[in-house]
Amino acid sequence: MKDANCVFCRIIDGSIPSVKVYESDNVIAFLDINPMEKGHVLVVPKQHWRTISDVPVDAPDAVRCAEEAMYIVRVTAKALGEGLADGTNILQANGACAGQTVPHLHFHVIPRYGGETLQPGWESGAGKYKDDDERDSYATRIADGIKKIVESEGIFG
Ligand code: AMP
Ligand code: ZN
Repeated sequence: MKDANCVFCRIIDGSIPSVKVYESDNVIAFLDINPMEKGHVLVVPKQHWRTISDVPVDAPDAVRCAEEAMYIVRVTAKALGEGLADGTNILQANGACAGQTVPHLHFHVIPRYGGETLQPGWESGAGKYKDDDERDSYATRIADGIKKIVESEGIFG
């Protein structure tokens, strides 16, 4: 199911560019354009559901798509934790009052740096990259980490 007016459906169909770190038949993951931290990833199921409550439980292909998205959230956090970040926050917003700006279900995986004293915060744009090369080097390291874990675990993909 796609929505031609949805920015994430357009990233999925390739009509809007993105810096991808993972892609399969069910899931895409790419760098957030306005990162809260460098290496901030969005994990997006390819089926267009507005919120987490809209995921149907009676359609096996939908369940599989949602399950794989959750798996890739975990793998992304794990990949970030293996040499890149000190910790991560997972954020998922449902509805405008919760801060959802893109009405296509997605999970933020936000790396955190700098030891144990950081307080979680949700400031968009706080993790701006110096330039495109720096952004791409984060994407490459994260994508390599995800690929290694997905291949070694052999559960999806
Ligand atoms: P939310 O507020 O949870 O709906 O998050 C939507 C996120 O999508 C925001 O963090 C935006 O920066 C991000 N975003 C919007 N458009 C794009 C895009 N074209 N490429 C990458 N990230 C985007
Ligand atoms: Zn969509």
